[in-house]
Amino acid sequence: MVLAVKELGGADLLVFFLDRTGTLKRGLAKNAKKSMRRFINCLEPLNLVTLTYAPAHSQLLLKEAQLEVSFPALRKDPLIMGIGNLMAELLLAFIPENDPHEESFMLTLEALKQLNNNRPPLLIASIWILRLMLITGYLPNFNKCTICNADLEQKKRWVWQVEPPRCVCADHHLSGDLKWEWDLEVLMFLRSLQTLPLSRIWRLGLSTTKIGGLFKNISRWCEAILQKEIRSYKWLERIIIKPQ
Ligand SMILES: [Zn+2]
Repeated sequence: MVLAVKELGGADLLVFFLDRTGTLKRGLAKNAKKSMRRFINCLEPLNLVTLTYAPAHSQLLLKEAQLEVSFPALRKDPLIMGIGNLMAELLLAFIPENDPHEESFMLTLEALKQLNNNRPPLLIASIWILRLMLITGYLPNFNKCTICNADLEQKKRWVWQVEPPRCVCADHHLSGDLKWEWDLEVLMFLRSLQTLPLSRIWRLGLSTTKIGGLFKNISRWCEAILQKEIRSYKWLERIIIKPQ
């Protein structure tokens, strides 16, 4: 799965991709821009390709690529395109190089199929990010209140704060910023996402009015973890998601 392609000097391209074990690798495609025969326009982010490569000094040398599967919805709808860019950017940021992440690979493949089948893009993106965070160990605990240890399920309203990171009952007065108050529906959604098998998470539903806010919440939280701006999210926020 191609994640990113960077232009180097001359006609060379540097390609970041996940192999079939979900291992993030980088490979140099020498003269790729001139050699259409070897890389017939298939080095687009999130395409599935068969890559032929050989080890060279510090990186792989790509010899040729053949397109296996592309997801046309990613090239047609601006919202889905933006989400595709976000997925590629987050995978590059969260998955360390040369370390197998097969589960993340399968998760991404399933999410792409869902997006291509016209499922609600922001819902699918939220499910994908949350599950990726679970796999990579960044998902917060949504069970107990960080302050009083009460079961959040016993409270009608609760707050997910990004800075400082905590989940608490809505009764407490909170200092700091980036906090969102949520209800039981969102709590149950977040909990189910952690326990359901991969094949069933895509059917999870959430009220349409809450999806945009939750997606924003999740994206800001990713930025807090990475301690940097997520460019594709900023693009999505500016162009697609209307200010709330
Ligand atoms: Zn509490």
